[in-house]
Amino acid sequence: MLFSELVSYYEKIEKTSSRIEMTNLLVELLKATPPEIIDKVVYLTVGEIYPPFVGIELGVADKLALRAVRLASGASEREVQEAYSKLGDVGLVGEKLLSKKTQATLFMEQLTVQDVYSALEKIAKASGEGAMETRVQILSGLLASSQPKEAKYILRIVTGKLRLGVADMTILDALSVLYGGGKETREYFERAYNLSSDIGYVAKVAAAEGLEGIKKFKITIGRPIRPMLAERLSSPEEILEKLGGAGLAEYKYDGERMQIHKSGGKVIIFSRRQENITSQYPDVVEMVRENVGAGEAILECEAVAIDPDTGDMLPFQELMHRKRKHDILKAVEQYPVSLYFFDILYLDGEDLTLKPLPERRKRLESIIRENERMKLSKSIIARDPESLERFFQEAIEAGCEGLVVKSIEENSIYRAGARGWLWIKYKRDYKSEMIDTVDLVVVGAFHGRGRRSGSYGALLMAAYDPERDVFQSVCKVGSGFTDEDLRKLPEMLEPYKIPRKHARVETGMEADVWFEPKLVLEIIGAEITLSPTHRAGWGVIKEGYGLAIRFPRFTGRYRFDKSPEDATTVKEIVEMYKHQLKKITAEQAGV
Ligand code: ATP
Repeated sequence: MLFSELVSYYEKIEKTSSRIEMTNLLVELLKATPPEIIDKVVYLTVGEIYPPFVGIELGVADKLALRAVRLASGASEREVQEAYSKLGDVGLVGEKLLSKKTQATLFMEQLTVQDVYSALEKIAKASGEGAMETRVQILSGLLASSQPKEAKYILRIVTGKLRLGVADMTILDALSVLYGGGKETREYFERAYNLSSDIGYVAKVAAAEGLEGIKKFKITIGRPIRPMLAERLSSPEEILEKLGGAGLAEYKYDGERMQIHKSGGKVIIFSRRQENITSQYPDVVEMVRENVGAGEAILECEAVAIDPDTGDMLPFQELMHRKRKHDILKAVEQYPVSLYFFDILYLDGEDLTLKPLPERRKRLESIIRENERMKLSKSIIARDPESLERFFQEAIEAGCEGLVVKSIEENSIYRAGARGWLWIKYKRDYKSEMIDTVDLVVVGAFHGRGRRSGSYGALLMAAYDPERDVFQSVCKVGSGFTDEDLRKLPEMLEPYKIPRKHARVETGMEADVWFEPKLVLEIIGAEITLSPTHRAGWGVIKEGYGLAIRFPRFTGRYRFDKSPEDATTVKEIVEMYKHQLKKITAEQAGV
């Protein structure tokens, strides 16, 4: 196929503002395209050369493209600059300047689509030292062999500014008309697209096998499936009603969504937006290789940043440290992640996307070998609003965003690329900050792991209730301790060790070691939340709940000057919680 033919379609498409007309032009174009290159024509028409997940982009800067124009046209630098300031479009500049030397090109061989595509591929792949120069050379060579109109489109494609207004969705329309016989068949094409994120590949299958091929479209390892997304509701009652009375409630982890493709020892990780992020997570690649018992699989999980010393989850922002190109191994060590798997879409040749969730979950359980760093998402089957609410508060306290509650009915398939009511997220509609520090009493401890083995990994902290003269737990703190603190703490606490929970301590937690309430530490946290486990202010705000500090951290200050009875009182914690709520209501009201 000649490139000039493609260009004549582009000119027509560019002129139309009607979507129907555009689709008709695309149908004509695809009809005229030989099946072997239909994928390439489709990529070019949406302004790319590969599907986005491949991660190779053209993106040549205007400045570089103008240099190629100068070389190909023989125009002076001034002429190029003047034309550019006047026209503001590299494509038009190329078209204008190249038309001045048309005579020389009269006897030239005409460019084919394949010629242009191969040259663009070389430009995109040029790397290392001298890559810029290579790009300019290839581009100017291509421009020198093209007609002015062709040059216009080549330049627009190469600078990422084709802008014909054709998107993947418009191509799907055209494919369903051409190969499905009409828009009624669009859903099949759409599904194929959602299973591959690759519009060129969908076109290729359609051209080779027609509608039948599209109906039988197969998932491929290496082509990301577009993610299923959740709708949102704000009460447990509404959620359960919507789901027909029961649902699988899972923690909504606050990390990065990953779709992991495994084939033998090869592992690819795609982001929520189908970018290949494998290079940022060599540790995840290794974990999946070792702990997924399947030859081929496509899995979904949330990767959450964790505190390497305590295993506690950290806020999402910590993952930003992994977004770098250099020193990735150092980042892996400093900012480790845990994986929480929540779905499986493909297993050893079998497409599982049309199976109901309970079956997918069973398959997932059968292949994930759980360990400290790799787990299935924490879940319960919820049938009543109270237990759903409790599980929600537990999730918040643990550092999650809330819950995703999922349908477990017969039709609970994985709806690729769709936001729907089979998954419902339940998040808080507010977030607030804890400004003041609090002074809390150590009442228990948990054994450390890894670097902290032999010392305490975290301490159980309590506030004081003077009315009943008891200490009520309010958080488990593992962050903010220096190596020096970790060395000193067991020594410091040794004299207070007791064989079981102290009679004046109230908590829903099982500590490994218990202490007499003596040592006071200064703690800061992100906010105060309702808690089914901690006992501070039990039942004051809500029946069956206490209050907890979320993301607590030791400030470094030992309050030796305070006796345990001088610690922050439960009443103060309750007041802080109420104050937070007031602040939120005021903010929501725009005050
Ligand atoms: P949000 O900003 O709320 O994450 P979103 O548009 O990215 O919104 P949603 O469909 O609203 O996506 O929420 C689902 C997201 O929650 C998923 O993309 C995933 O990253 C995350 N997530 C965390 N835990 C789970 C889980 N157990 N099951 C499904 N998704 C989960």
